[in-house]
Amino acid sequence: MTEWDKSVDLLIVGSGGGGMVAALATLDAGLEPLVIEKQALVGGSTGLSGGMVWLPNNPLMRRDGIADSHEDGLAYLADVVGDIGAPSSPARREMFLTAGSEMITFLLRKGVRLIRCPGWSDYYPNHKGGNAAGRGVEGIPFDAAELGAWSDKVQPSMARNFGFVVLTNELRSVQYFNRAPRAFAGFDALTPTESFGVARDGSRVVLSVRNSVSSIAVAENVPGIDAPAGRSQ
Ligand SMILES: Cc1cc2nc3c(=O)[nH]c(=O)nc-3n(C[C@H](O)[C@H](O)[C@H](O)COP(=O)(O)OP(=O)(O)OC[C@H]3O[C@@H](n4cnc5c(N)ncnc54)[C@H](O)[C@@H]3O)c2cc1C
Repeated sequence: MTEWDKSVDLLIVGSGGGGMVAALATLDAGLEPLVIEKQALVGGSTGLSGGMVWLPNNPLMRRDGIADSHEDGLAYLADVVGDIGAPSSPARREMFLTAGSEMITFLLRKGVRLIRCPGWSDYYPNHKGGNAAGRGVEGIPFDAAELGAWSDKVQPSMARNFGFVVLTNELRSVQYFNRAPRAFAGFDALTPTESFGVARDGSRVVLSVRNSVSSIAVAENVPGIDAPAGRSQ
């Protein structure tokens, strides 16, 4: 008979957003997960990504009274994506919209700090079901020192190479600072707090939604690759 090193309720392959959320949900259900990762760092392409979750009629929009609906989300997908068969079937779209909202609610309950991206319009707001108010959700950046020993094991975001960390809406001001007075004002307001702040303390690593889940996973003691010093696996 095969001798296994470890036996768990759910074996999760990959420590990207999908894997980490699955691990949290497993723990939340009172079961034991194990995350395995082939890379040296935790986070996958999620850790490198822009970190914005596009989700029509998401819980943060509903909380803030932003007009949107499940039906508009479906209408937008139908108009923009069209009928492309199985990869974007009606069942998948339903699941995306329904489970997506459940996931955001779940992550908020677990303590992941998420905010809306107001004004970050759909790419085609004039299409059927389109929304210009912003259907994006992203994480509030936090100091990686909160992760303790895990901070060196988490995929740093690409923003680290730019030297500063901004929210998605703020990035617009940074990119287009020389195009409009309002963008320059936004950029100007950010510069001292972000750019200079990081320059003063070059070792500071700031993580966002991409790795917010990692932070919560550490707090929840998700069993995985290496437990941080002082934690049981
Ligand atoms: C630069 C960039 C920017 C992006 N920006 C956005 C954005 O703003 N919004 C958005 O919605 N999407 C964005 N995306 C896409 C998004 O990041 C991905 O679709 C999403 O992160 C995929 O998540 P995942 O959990 O499925 O996979 P991943 O995050 O890629 O995680 C998969 C993990 O599995 C591991 N793995 C694979 N095979 C094995 C194995 N055999 N054994 C062990 N481990 C294994 C990998 O090493 C990896 O760590 C962006 C992507 C990139 C690259």
